[in-house]
Amino acid sequence: MKYSDYERWSKRVAEWAQRYLTTIADRSVRAPTDPGDVLAQLPKTAPEQGESMATILADFERIVPDAMTHWQHPRFFAYFPANAAPASMIAEQIVSVMAAQCMLWQTSPAATEMETRMVEWMRDALGLEPHFQGVVHDSASTATLTAVLTMRERAYEWRGISSGSAGEKPARIYASAETHSSVDKAVWIAGIGQDNLVKIPTNQEFAMRPDALRQAIAADRAAGMTPAGIVLCIGGTSIGASDRPDEIIEIARDEGLYTHVDAAWAGSAMVCPEFRSIWTGIDGADSIVFNPHKWLGAQFDCSIQFLADPTDQVRTLSLRPDYLETLDQDTIVNYNEWTTPLGRRFRALKLWFLLRAYGLEGLRTRIRHHVAWAGELAEKIRTHDDFRITTEPRLSLFTFQYAPPDTHANEASEALLKRINDDGRTYLTQTKRGDDFVIRFQAGQFDCTRDDVLSVYDILTELIKE
Ligand SMILES: *Cc1c(COP(=O)(O)O)cnc(C)c1O
Repeated sequence: MKYSDYERWSKRVAEWAQRYLTTIADRSVRAPTDPGDVLAQLPKTAPEQGESMATILADFERIVPDAMTHWQHPRFFAYFPANAAPASMIAEQIVSVMAAQCMLWQTSPAATEMETRMVEWMRDALGLEPHFQGVVHDSASTATLTAVLTMRERAYEWRGISSGSAGEKPARIYASAETHSSVDKAVWIAGIGQDNLVKIPTNQEFAMRPDALRQAIAADRAAGMTPAGIVLCIGGTSIGASDRPDEIIEIARDEGLYTHVDAAWAGSAMVCPEFRSIWTGIDGADSIVFNPHKWLGAQFDCSIQFLADPTDQVRTLSLRPDYLETLDQDTIVNYNEWTTPLGRRFRALKLWFLLRAYGLEGLRTRIRHHVAWAGELAEKIRTHDDFRITTEPRLSLFTFQYAPPDTHANEASEALLKRINDDGRTYLTQTKRGDDFVIRFQAGQFDCTRDDVLSVYDILTELIKE
């Protein structure tokens, strides 16, 4: 295929895309595919000679769509959403055509400056104070890793960069057990180690206990270790639990610790002022991450990290070999110095398209609907004798169990979940509450309707009758 054929084949793909997106609700949400099915259809070796685009696209249609889980399906209620609003899809198409490396201002002036402005738009949209700056990463995991690396280097006064951490006292990071596994992975990669990630007990609301945090820090100092930072969670992945920034950041200030707030999912809901009480005190944070690629509608990958002051992070991550110097340009920003990879995609374009195509009010309306409909569904499930709500809705996320009389609720719930997902009309996942197996529901798909959400009740009651 040549550049001059681009229009022809992209039109073909656009036709396929329109069909796919307008009929997606007729598909099974999760593919009824067995492990190895796709592998068996792919030749063992790459072709020696080029093939026609017609053949490639025909094979794509034959092999791939039916063997995918459809994340843009309106009855996808598993995990968290990975929304891709149509306007953001179009932006991604343009980005893939220009295919620029956005590591330096000079390699991508418009991308760099648009990134600055989009971070400001989002900061203001979330109601954060104007001192926050920020950067767009691929994922929240990367943002959290950069924050943990910054915590380590602050604690070691940047000796880790030059000499490694072998001669240092252990750096200690504090988080509750409700925080995401990306925090555990970040401490592994940062060379801090799992044993130095201190999991602070939570209260009945599943928020980190301030008294327990103070005690843990004091005990670590007494033992000669170096407290380095605290990771807070707002809207945890399991049941949507949140720590209290107002309480925890006060302790961080007293102790001179760096704070990073993981609001990967719930951050999108902060475009609605009425939900902001879950992160009261947020403006005191050093670092905050949220994923516009989850609930908001910017296609994956798009994760924004806000920084109260980027100096420490840039000091941790910037590296300027001669070949990356931009001559006579001291005032420009080179975003690779804020992140771990050098090469960077033009991720701000899809935010620009998204925010302009729907407006903040359009995005707020969607999120408000999702929260309201999830609440309605929880109430409906609660009225049924054989179900119990195990965690109350937090934004649009709640959990429940199937507990008919004389059965074991864990086994009954697990068996029902399997039937729901084999049925294919909707897709839910599970989590654990202590030893309990609970079914997890969240609403957030960009195009889902109230009927889509409430249909889950009909599917549940139909399946348990069988
Ligand atoms: C999804 C999620 C993450 C991980 O996000 P990625 O962008 O996939 O790395 C981290 N924390 C929370 C709370 C999440 O919901």
